[in-house]
Amino acid sequence: MYVPNNLRIRVSLRASFSCEYCGRSLTFNGIASQLDHIRPVSRNGQCTFENLAMSCGHCNWRKRDCEDAVDPETRKRVRLFNPRVDDWNTHFQRNPSGRIVGRDSVGIHHGYAFDTVTDIPVTVLLK
Ligand SMILES: [Zn+2]
Repeated sequence: MYVPNNLRIRVSLRASFSCEYCGRSLTFNGIASQLDHIRPVSRNGQCTFENLAMSCGHCNWRKRDCEDAVDPETRKRVRLFNPRVDDWNTHFQRNPSGRIVGRDSVGIHHGYAFDTVTDIPVTVLLK
């Protein structure tokens, strides 16, 4: 989806040119930056400042057009991390090896969805 340059720049500045999901700097490390629609376009998400998040290609590719997941144990729907309303440090932390792990259900299931936590079962993403 086309995003006007002025909107792309505003979103990038708000995110300090880092992925809003994994925190990687997207300025100098050669990782392609993309804009993610937090609420997917397929779910009537709009191309607005509030609904766009700066993302690395990996996180955006993993998230696809999802905004929630199913817990494989409880089979309940769990929302994914939303950088507009959630504090990253509330839901995630880095373990001593630098891997991102979830602190709560939002972080854990976002981790499932983004494959940043690989030692737990794969979660089925809902569309
Ligand atoms: Zn990322």
